[in-house]
Amino acid sequence: MTIQDVVIIGGGAAGSSAAFHLAKGGLKVKLIERKDKKSIKPCGGGMAASVQNFFPFSLSPVVDEVITRVDFSWRLNDPVVANLPGSSPFWIVRREKLDSYLAEQAVSAGAELLQPVGVINIDKSKNSWLITCDNGTELESLSVIIADGSNSPWPSKLGVGPKKHNFAKTTSVRLEGSGTLQKGTARFEFGLVHHGFAWAFPISSGINVGVGTFIGRQETDTQEVLDDFLPSLGFDPQEGDRQHSKLRIWNGHHPLHGDGLLLVGDAASLCDPFLAEGLRPALISGYEAANSLKEWLKDDTFSLEGYSKTMHTNWGASMAWGRRIAQVFYRFPKVGYQLGIKRPTAPQRIAQILSGEMGYGDIAQRVIKRLLLQK
Ligand SMILES: Cc1cc2nc3c(=O)[nH]c(=O)nc-3n(C[C@H](O)[C@H](O)[C@H](O)COP(=O)(O)OP(=O)(O)OC[C@H]3O[C@@H](n4cnc5c(N)ncnc54)[C@H](O)[C@@H]3O)c2cc1C
Repeated sequence: MTIQDVVIIGGGAAGSSAAFHLAKGGLKVKLIERKDKKSIKPCGGGMAASVQNFFPFSLSPVVDEVITRVDFSWRLNDPVVANLPGSSPFWIVRREKLDSYLAEQAVSAGAELLQPVGVINIDKSKNSWLITCDNGTELESLSVIIADGSNSPWPSKLGVGPKKHNFAKTTSVRLEGSGTLQKGTARFEFGLVHHGFAWAFPISSGINVGVGTFIGRQETDTQEVLDDFLPSLGFDPQEGDRQHSKLRIWNGHHPLHGDGLLLVGDAASLCDPFLAEGLRPALISGYEAANSLKEWLKDDTFSLEGYSKTMHTNWGASMAWGRRIAQVFYRFPKVGYQLGIKRPTAPQRIAQILSGEMGYGDIAQRVIKRLLLQK
């Protein structure tokens, strides 16, 4: 059996990004994706344009919309409009297009894609990993990247990442036609959703609508939210197919590496616990994981630990604040909306957060102080 340098489980944003960077570095890479190319992913597709910095090829072929304006509302009223500056910092991508495109780039760089093939077992032998697939394929590899998303069983089994997972509950609806949503406009609705928010993002021939709850165990009656939200966008409340999913969100700083093993994207619980931003950390972690593994394969034994540290510093530090903001904002959302979103400086801050130019840590101390004083 030929030994691979890296086997990547999951060909989503995180896995495909890692596959591209590793293959480009001349490594022997197998990328394994369970679903076929056409499966629709439950994702709004909102993405900071700054992720372009992580790729030497243009991402524009998969950008459906460039967002120039963000509309906020509280129970469909009390609007706030944020015009995003000329540099167009926020894009909307159609997820399945983005993932396929990144996987194609990885293949062009030399990775081998197995699709649709699911991984059913991974085992560590003395110096390598043994990976078993549902089509009977068995692979041996010096290292493994776990990139199989929010339902990944491997972090718990292998004792890496958070011991306890924290989930946002989401429902997404893809609609044909744009309704009343203006081109280039993204919409965020607070107030209709208990402990969360609803969103509407334009794509080339339709809209991605979603409902997410981020704290608490109480079930949200999603249809009740959609009964109000969809007509406000010019759609019938029953329109579109619903996809319900649990999204693993950031839950503290934890090592994201083992012996020849790295976690990336949702499998590493990197998704933002306040706004469900998971694409940027997926792409960043794919990039950073690839850099660390390249060094580790050259015998730098500490480089995998370096990956955990880098993700802690460059992403986790902001997410720790994001989690605190979520806990306060979603408990007192009306106050949060008035003091956070309706502030005169909010549009500029929002643009900076959506673009990735500003982290939660930069604004958190002031926001929390303000909310607690109001309580
Ligand atoms: C409703 C909703 C809306 C969202 N909206 C946004 C948004 O607007 N902006 C944003 O930034 N983030 C958003 N997110 C979060 C974002 O979608 C995720 O954080 C992102 O998909 C993480 O990418 P990933 O590659 O880690 O995981 P995934 O995209 O889930 O990819 C994992 C891949 O692994 C494959 N897989 C699973 N098991 C196996 C196996 N055993 N063998 C082989 N393959 C396997 C899966 O088929 C999948 O393709 C949203 C999430 C949801 C649920």
